[in-house]
Amino acid sequence: MCGIVGYIGAQQAQDILLDGLSRLEYRGYDSAGIAVMDSGIIRLSKAKGRLANLAARVASNPLPGTIGIGHTRWATHGKATDLNAHPFLSADGMFAVAHNGIIENYTGLKAFLSEKGFSFVSDTDSEVVPMLLEYFYDGDVLKAIRRAVSELEGAFSLAIITSHAPDCVFAARKDSSLAIGFGKGCSFVSSDIPAISGFAEQCCIPDENSVAVLRKGEIKLFDRQG
Ligand code: GLU
Repeated sequence: MCGIVGYIGAQQAQDILLDGLSRLEYRGYDSAGIAVMDSGIIRLSKAKGRLANLAARVASNPLPGTIGIGHTRWATHGKATDLNAHPFLSADGMFAVAHNGIIENYTGLKAFLSEKGFSFVSDTDSEVVPMLLEYFYDGDVLKAIRRAVSELEGAFSLAIITSHAPDCVFAARKDSSLAIGFGKGCSFVSSDIPAISGFAEQCCIPDENSVAVLRKGEIKLFDRQG
């Protein structure tokens, strides 16, 4: 187990993401990271080991922005290193993804994407997801997410931000836990309700195979058929 969080609102995202991740520490993890978007530019900070390592990194190199995602990793594919820590960027830097779970068919997807010219920086199964999003993106982010998710075998919760939609956080789940919530002018996604119940006024668990689109204080859920 491990955790994902996401936030969109008026406050600086990095502090809320770190706080949310600290509430998921009980699930166990070996590394952590956050991605924060500002004026459509996504910046990452990651650190092996305790969340305090990431917090120290972010304290000396803050990530400005009010939209972001975060992850505590329990390595299943690839060692616990800074490089293998989530979130991961697509090759063009336009998508960032945090993933809980295992992508069972990642070897085939990686081979397919490599043939199309994508190269990978990590040893993880998860890095195929941002690359697939870039590959399928044709002007419609939701469509690209639904298309990419339909290619994935295994269990996953995903939190996604993209420069193509700088006012949204996206989330998806299949056989893995995910909670979403919203308050006044802000919305949250997390692996479980306790991590967001302090912030959100209302929370819910999205259905299996759904994709959530979070804007400030607004959540839309889409089923497999869209
Ligand atoms: N399978 C992924 C990895 O090894 C995600 C593990 C997790 O759920 O933290 O990076």
